[in-house]
Amino acid sequence: MKRIGVLGGGQLGTMLAGAIHDLGAEACIYEPDAAAPACARFRNVVNAPWTDADALGRFFSSCDAVTYEMEHIDTRALKALETGAPLLPNVSVLETAQDRIHEKTFLERAGLPHVAFAVVRGRDELLRVAGSFGFPFIIKTVRGGYDGKGQAFVASAAGLGPVAATLAADGVYLLEEAIDLALEASVIVGRSPRGEEVVFPVFENVHTEHILDLTVVPARIPPELAERLQSIALEAARALDVHGLLTTEFFLSRTATQRPAMSTNATAHAPSRSVAVGGHHVYVNEFAPRPHNSGHVTRNACTASQYDVLARVLLDVPVASPALVGPGVFCMGNLLGDIWLAQGRRDLDLSSLRQFPEVIDVVLYGKRDAQPRRKMGHFVTQAPDADRAIRAAKAFRHNLLA
Ligand code: ADP
Ligand code: MG
Repeated sequence: MKRIGVLGGGQLGTMLAGAIHDLGAEACIYEPDAAAPACARFRNVVNAPWTDADALGRFFSSCDAVTYEMEHIDTRALKALETGAPLLPNVSVLETAQDRIHEKTFLERAGLPHVAFAVVRGRDELLRVAGSFGFPFIIKTVRGGYDGKGQAFVASAAGLGPVAATLAADGVYLLEEAIDLALEASVIVGRSPRGEEVVFPVFENVHTEHILDLTVVPARIPPELAERLQSIALEAARALDVHGLLTTEFFLSRTATQRPAMSTNATAHAPSRSVAVGGHHVYVNEFAPRPHNSGHVTRNACTASQYDVLARVLLDVPVASPALVGPGVFCMGNLLGDIWLAQGRRDLDLSSLRQFPEVIDVVLYGKRDAQPRRKMGHFVTQAPDADRAIRAAKAFRHNLLA
């Protein structure tokens, strides 16, 4: 029986492990937190820190291939491994995706579209360059951010002081021009070491407070725009040489932002570069070389899920091209810990499902500790059109809160 290692035992790792088991293989989980969802579900679990070179070494030696379900892994220990299973996608893909400066520099070098950005070192440099970079902007930590954590929006010079005061004097940060978003979208690409390539349909993503709220499939964009996003995502996966999955997050704006090149001596800065298609200006936001939250919807909306595709790549099983299953439109909604806290109970009361026949799936991750904004589960609606799929999703979730 083949053994596939998954670094990380959160919900993405859990669903991936399920797909690996569905293909008759054994999923082995490496996860520092013994309370993570996958640890209670699978037999082969190693609970050890990312920095434990011996435990990692044994884990890699016991597997045929290893992948990861999130980017926040210390790569030094991975790079020090001399033997054992290959890591897919490889460690340099992981290093690019886990560091916002590497990511932006990659986009710039690869000629892919991106927003204007600058690297600032420390609070004083921010105060010096903010005016010439231009407002509004978003300042982001370089590593470790997710769900909008480690980000601050600065609308104008008046907002600069309070944000600067929260920064470390010697920290490194990324400045990004804030785009006037018309839409956010994501595209998942699968590539195998054999050269097979598959591209999922475009997902439309609605964020609330920088955290993914809803994913709508198919995205409400013209076909030529959808094809362009898919081809940019494929180009990025090829340029990064991803074997596994690559999710590309896109920003779409109705207004062109042409921030001029900065005339300061900031360490690294780049003007924006967009691609114009069908009245939209397209930018790549960021990459995730792994299953993605927006891809939960593929379990219901596509002939193969993102987890199935990755499991096949890892197991060297031919990869099927994922197509939309119809009819109608699917909408995935995240269920955050706030709902558990509002209900005041551990086991979510799902009795309102009776009123919502549009809800075709609910997945709860089994996280014990409900916290505000923590992703605890998701659900999917299916309806004849996007308005109805979204309306049902919002109403169902609202009902859970009541
Ligand atoms: P994370 O790693 O937390 O997902 P992102 O860079 O994707 O970080 O930011 C999270 C969300 O914040 C984005 O999906 C978008 O809604 C908003 N956001 C981030 N950067 C920008 C930007 N430059 N302009 C406009 N909105 C942004
Ligand atoms: Mg993001």
